Parts: sequence; C-alpha cells; structure tokens
Amino acid sequence: MEQFNLISIFVFLFGISFGSFLNVLIYRIPEGINIAIPPSACPKCNNELKWYHNIPLFSWLFLGGKCAFCKEPIPLRYPLVELFNAIIWLIIYLKIGLVWYLPFVALSFSMLLALSMIDLKYFAVPDSLNFAALIFALIQKDFFNHLIDAAIAAFGFWLLGFIVSKLAKKDSLGEADIIVAATMAALLGFPAFFIAMFLSAILAIVPSLLAKDTMVPFVPFLALATLITYINKDALLQLLEVILYG
Ligand SMILES: [Zn+2]
Repeated sequence: MEQFNLISIFVFLFGISFGSFLNVLIYRIPEGINIAIPPSACPKCNNELKWYHNIPLFSWLFLGGKCAFCKEPIPLRYPLVELFNAIIWLIIYLKIGLVWYLPFVALSFSMLLALSMIDLKYFAVPDSLNFAALIFALIQKDFFNHLIDAAIAAFGFWLLGFIVSKLAKKDSLGEADIIVAATMAALLGFPAFFIAMFLSAILAIVPSLLAKDTMVPFVPFLALATLITYINKDALLQLLEVILYG
C-alpha cells in the first residue's frame, strides 16, 4: 500500500480531468459523434462552452448544475463520472504505486466505467471502448500471462454462451460479454477472476429483483466487482482458500 502523498493529489486531479474526457466518450460514441470535434456545447441551446464552463467538477458546482446560457440543468452524472474516475485512479495508485503500467490499469478501469455508464442507458456497449479496456488491461508486466488469462476467459465464455444458446435455442451471451470477461481476466488473473464473477452476480441480485420485468444492464456490476476484487485481491484469495480447504 502506497502512502498518501503529493503524487496522490496529482493522480486524483488527472483522474478528474480524464473523467471529463470520459463524459465526452460516453455521450458521443453511442450517438456516433466525432469525439475530437465539434467542441463541447450545451445539448439544449447549442451554445459553445467557454473554457471556464468546462473545468471538470468545479464548473458544475460554480454553475449550480445549470447551463450558463439557458439554465438547462446539467445532469448530475457528468460531475459524478469525473469524481468516480478520480477516486478509481487514486485507489489504484494507492494499491499498486507508481509503476510504469499504472496508467494502463487506470485507463482500463476508466473504460469499464464508460462502458458501465453506456450500458445503463443503452443496454449495449460499443466495441471500440470494450476493446480499448482489454488492450489497456493487457499492457502490464508479464504481458503473455495476462494474454493467456484473457484468452482462457474469452474462450470459456464463448463456450458457455455456445452451450447455453444451443440448449435454450436463443442467443444468451453476446460478443460484448466475452470481451468484458477477457478484460476482467487480464486485470485479475485466475482464480481471482471467478471471485469477481461471483461477486458481480451477488451485486446484481437486488437490482434484478427490484427491476422485475425490465432489463438490468450487467456491465456495471462486472466492472464494480472487478474493481473490488482488484483492490482486495489478496484478502479475497485467502477467503476463497479458507472456504475451499477450511
Ligand atoms: Zn444551454
């Protein structure tokens, strides 16, 4: 565990800034809008945002959560994504320290955050961000071990989906789930991957019961379980050993 220090503050501030870019990805990619141009504008009145309207987190607070021009409310999810991303980057830094692959692990979890937000709205996730999450997850030390873990998880999920869809005579697991599973395995390895899968199922129980007939997006639970498992991997692996072997 890393000490809380000046670097932590930088990591947090970078996390907020990148969270702002994530909002652009989350809003524009499913709509098929170019992520680099046009500049940010209010979706209601189309006025281009000035630089001081666009300071992550702080502008939302200064503007009281409203557009500076037309006073249209700016959804709370914008500052929340920025804050969540900053918290995720900070706890990953505190977990693994200032290692060369820190940015890649952090970016992989950021992509999972973006996928979660998109899945919540559209019940589907874009391949581009899904593959980005996987590629960032693979850029670590022991690249080939992570690649093998990812391949095993992807094949396992594909096989499971194949068998289930033959038995149930309908498509069950999508291509997107296979890629998310591969990302999880690349980040966690085995057997921690199974812990995260189990945890995500537990996390999803209550929302699934509450939702009844409506669809429940599953990526947010996979992503949250992956983060919890990544941060507490050693403790959870010990717990698994106690459960299995007493
Ligand atoms: Zn406006």
